[in-house]
Amino acid sequence: MCIICQIVEGTLPSYKVYEDEHTLAFLDIAPVTDGHVLLVPKQHHQFVEDLPEDVHAALFDSLKKLVKPIQAAFDAPASNIFINNGPNAGPIIPHVHIHIIPRPKKTGMNLFSGTARFKPRNKEYFEDVAEKIRKKIRQ
Ligand SMILES: [Zn+2]
Repeated sequence: MCIICQIVEGTLPSYKVYEDEHTLAFLDIAPVTDGHVLLVPKQHHQFVEDLPEDVHAALFDSLKKLVKPIQAAFDAPASNIFINNGPNAGPIIPHVHIHIIPRPKKTGMNLFSGTARFKPRNKEYFEDVAEKIRKKIRQ
């Protein structure tokens, strides 16, 4: 079973920020910026074009719902949103996932340099970040 399916099933722990019938959003464990979230369909599909219509619609509904709260939680006026679709695009995980990366004004880092990622953080860091986002979603 793929790593994202294990997170969906709860056999692997994650810092969840949002969940509904078809989708789950949780913190990327190697964040590019504070608040870096992965949004996934609960159903396993490797490619965006394989998603059934209802799952596809639910995924992008959740994306729309999450972007503003995630940005607001970190005073970010913008975000990078992207999908690595297929192995040649560089994903390690064969399960559709959307990166949502809030971009505060002062961070000019190049996300695609390969060196942008922070070092792994501790549990307190992730719990704090996840709670900031959950709070904004609830508002
Ligand atoms: Zn999967």
